[in-house]
Order: sequence, then C-alpha cells, then structure tokens
Amino acid sequence: MRTPRLRVDRERCIGAGMCALTAPEVFDQDPDDGLVLLLHGEPSTDHRAAARMAAGVCPSGAITLHEPESSGS
Ligand code: SF4
Repeated sequence: MRTPRLRVDRERCIGAGMCALTAPEVFDQDPDDGLVLLLHGEPSTDHRAAARMAAGVCPSGAITLHEPESSGS
C-alpha cells in the first residue's frame, strides 16, 4: 500500500491557520511567524481524510497532497 505524501509551501502560506485547525495532528503553526509547520509528511490512515480536507480549505493553495495510484496498468 502506498502512502500519500504531503507538501507545504511556506512561501505561499499566509498563516491563516486553517490547516492546523482542520488537521491538528498533521499541521501546526510556527509560533514565530504563524506559517504552517508540517508535522507528518506521510499521514497515517487515521489522519489522511483530515489532511485532504486541510489541503482543500487552505486559502493560499500552499498544501499539496500527492496520492499515488495503486493501479499500475
Ligand atoms: S491553511 Fe494554508 S495558508 Fe493557512 S496556515 Fe495552513 S498552509 Fe498556511
């Protein structure tokens, strides 16, 4: 089974904090500049849905989730 990989782009992040609110197990905010901190680049099954939701609610598009397809044909 392949694990989706998360990436965050701190250059794009505007510190809105939606990710940390939506998926606090996966994202945090830097106490100094308020920008996103990625806690788990490969979220566990339990946190995957929240991570996907966080990518969707991020207003700056700073979060990307790469989900490898398991069908290899
Ligand atoms: S939701 Fe997006 S803009 Fe807001 S802190 Fe997270 S990554 Fe940054």
